[in-house]
Amino acid sequence: MDFKEYAKAIEQDIIRWRRDLHQIPEIGLELPKTSAYVQEQLKDMGIEFETYVNGSAVVALIGGKHPGKTIGLRADMDALPIEEETNMPYSSTNGNMHACGHDAHTAMLLGAAKLLKDKEDLLKGTVKLLFQPGEEGFAGAKHMIEEGVLENPKVDTILGLHIGSPSQDVPDGKVIVNHGKTMTCLDQFWIKVKGKGAHGAYPDQGVDPMVIAGQIIGALQCIVSREKSGVEPAIITIGKISGGTAFNIIPDFVDMEGTARFADPELREYAAKRIGEIATGIAKSMRGDCEYKYHFGYPPLVNSKEVTEKFVKSAKKVVGEDDIIEVTNPIMGGEDMAYFLEEVPGTFFFLTSSVYDSQGNFIPSHNSKFDVVEDVLHIGSALFVQAVFDFLNE
Ligand SMILES: [Zn+2]
Ligand SMILES: [Zn+2]
Repeated sequence: MDFKEYAKAIEQDIIRWRRDLHQIPEIGLELPKTSAYVQEQLKDMGIEFETYVNGSAVVALIGGKHPGKTIGLRADMDALPIEEETNMPYSSTNGNMHACGHDAHTAMLLGAAKLLKDKEDLLKGTVKLLFQPGEEGFAGAKHMIEEGVLENPKVDTILGLHIGSPSQDVPDGKVIVNHGKTMTCLDQFWIKVKGKGAHGAYPDQGVDPMVIAGQIIGALQCIVSREKSGVEPAIITIGKISGGTAFNIIPDFVDMEGTARFADPELREYAAKRIGEIATGIAKSMRGDCEYKYHFGYPPLVNSKEVTEKFVKSAKKVVGEDDIIEVTNPIMGGEDMAYFLEEVPGTFFFLTSSVYDSQGNFIPSHNSKFDVVEDVLHIGSALFVQAVFDFLNE
């Protein structure tokens, strides 16, 4: 069956869903209107569902008429607190905006739902649709997992996608896929350097936390440059530093905050420990002390090699060999699909779509002028459907 053609036939529905959702963007873990909209479409399709995360997540099942495995398909549905400036007729007017394309993800998954429901009798096994809130910093996926969405039936593999382009050079409608470490973690840490306040002219009477902080900032970069393989990506950034009240006073303490990004889960654990050891060690050696806290945010997103290989075969049936871009370097950004992929082997891939302003400048996601190329949406639905059939029926 040609699933691309099959999806093309419902393209207008997918675009309509996307535009409807685009006009009701909601933030975080509370998506009452968005969730209700998705539920309404599923009802129209005759698909049963349950809700999670206080009604804002929607989980639906298709198939199950013949025994088999269960595949999960995930779409995030939340928007961003950005005032939209696209001037499109379907622009949002509520102060929030779908500036990351999650409206498109939801619409593509609804498209896949419709196509799969029509072919439900042919499915060996079950498809679990996971419509998720709170991707943009709220760990919606983690909440859903804690509430048991990956059980009953247990999800054997999971797929998710993101629309957009890493750069303006990639034509629309391509599939970008990585066979392993795909995106980095999104962690945060805090260091409080403790010294002893004194007059700026008599540093010997105090312990200067400013000077200690300076040493720590430099030394932390040695984790990146000296303590890991050169080919393994890592970022440690101190983004905020505050301390002191006047030019001639040595303060009691200095506060620093930073972010750390790693694609490798083991390196992440190692660095989380080392940042604290280095900061504390330097502070103590310079007669001060330090408090350290590390927050493990979204984990590194790691695709399963095996599932990705299978997915690439499926994708080739939909878009053709030349339209699949297989990459090896991770993206230095976070994505909470990583929580699902920690539990279940699967693949997170990208469907390219680039938009430009009137001067021809590329508009990145999270920008008030961001938009998606609606011509590619049916491809996303088709990729899901093809992968489902290949995974369940092979
Ligand atoms: Zn985003
Ligand atoms: Zn996103």
